[in-house]
Amino acid sequence: MEWNNNIVIAHRGAWKKNNFPQNSIASLREAFTLKCYGAEFDVHFTKDRVIVVNHDDDFKGMTIADSTYAELCRKLHTNGEYIPTLESYLKEGMKQNNMKLILEIKMGRTPKKTLALTDAVVKMVKSLNADAWVEYISFSYAALQRILQLDPASKTAFLAEPGEEVSLEKLKEDGILQADYHYTIYKEGGWFKKADAPGITINAWTVNEEKDMRWLIAENADFITTNEPELLFDVINSTCSF
Ligand code: MG
Repeated sequence: MEWNNNIVIAHRGAWKKNNFPQNSIASLREAFTLKCYGAEFDVHFTKDRVIVVNHDDDFKGMTIADSTYAELCRKLHTNGEYIPTLESYLKEGMKQNNMKLILEIKMGRTPKKTLALTDAVVKMVKSLNADAWVEYISFSYAALQRILQLDPASKTAFLAEPGEEVSLEKLKEDGILQADYHYTIYKEGGWFKKADAPGITINAWTVNEEKDMRWLIAENADFITTNEPELLFDVINSTCSF
């Protein structure tokens, strides 16, 4: 394994420039072609408990939790792909050894359902021996704690909107070693200075404007999650050449 050594995480894969569907196998492959550190993607349970990769909780007008996988396969992504299963997505991601797969566990309708999805996801990752590729992220703190119970060696990050953030000390105490917050949260509070002390990394989302990228690079953010990975690479390269 030789992981790409940069700060770029392609949000829902690298889809925008080429008009690929978000969270598609094509967007995963494009993130790899760009040599991103990671490709981020989201997972849900179907009605028949197949884990699928999609951002929204509906696919082409069908509510994922109320649809079987076969029903979801009646519609296609714009590039002709079926909605990917987690299994197919991980298998595709494991064809390469350079880019991490940043797996977001989406909230279910109840906390119990979120944990059921979490258990199934970890089981799938383990059964495919995909551990080395996968980093887990979630807005559900309980899901991250469950992951760490099931696999204490796993790498986890807590996602937060403004107002929902948790201190770096608390994350560290719970073994969650990355803050993965909306970038505006980091504008106040000295997060980057504090992050050095507890050995926690900082990831910012979803950063699509050059000025915000430049600010986060100047602050030494560990990772930037973006819909514009090509732009972020350009900004990084121009920053380094000064
Ligand atoms: Mg996501």
